Amino acid sequence: MASAGVGLASVSLLAAAAAGWIAPSLLRFGPLRQACYPVLAGVGSEAHIALTFDDGPDPAGTLAVLGALADLGWRATFFLVGEQVRCHPQLARAVAEAGHELALHGDRHRNHLFRSGRDVAADLRRGAETIRAATGVSPVFFRPPFGVFTAGTLAAARRQRLHPVLWTAWGRDWEVSTGPQVAATVLATLDERGTILLHDADRYARTPQSWKATVDALPVLGQAAAEHGWRIGPLQEHFRLDVEPDRRR
Ligand SMILES: [Zn+2]
Repeated sequence: MASAGVGLASVSLLAAAAAGWIAPSLLRFGPLRQACYPVLAGVGSEAHIALTFDDGPDPAGTLAVLGALADLGWRATFFLVGEQVRCHPQLARAVAEAGHELALHGDRHRNHLFRSGRDVAADLRRGAETIRAATGVSPVFFRPPFGVFTAGTLAAARRQRLHPVLWTAWGRDWEVSTGPQVAATVLATLDERGTILLHDADRYARTPQSWKATVDALPVLGQAAAEHGWRIGPLQEHFRLDVEPDRRR
């Protein structure tokens, strides 16, 4: 991973900073993390917006999102959950075969704040191995459930050569909302170097079929992107990482 130094350096800094239990709450505070840790926050170095989806694969939501992305001609990064990949390995393969990037959202969707370092390390390892077994892809990027890091999370990610990435703009698409509302929430904080967080599954959401609003939001975001001349793509494009051939799809 030749040019991965920026991300790994950030992780090292964070690991040092995250020696206590205060760090996770600080890292969740958007403006601070964007100023101090731009790579982890999802801020790229040039005008490009990363589009990311968490919590899949899901039989209904993922396919609907894939269809909407195909209509827009966009590629994105999907942060998959290992336990969902084991239920739907063919869907994980469909995401990769459609040209999208596969990333890791953990094996189980549990808050790391209440788990030991050893438990978190085992979770990351099993989740990555599950994605690898189902698709042949080794994930490069990692986002913990709920965006909560602990020192154990950062240490495990570093040992497993995973780049932690959060987001700069979310759609709050796990709540009751419509497509235009989700798009407006994203656009309220999005800038031309940011990372968008959306969800292609309702399994861990508060609202059944929450992905419908997500799907409806995508053409609205497409319109905004056309108006502003934004380039949209996966994280690997966002950070221009030179990934080893065996970790690239
Ligand atoms: Zn999640």
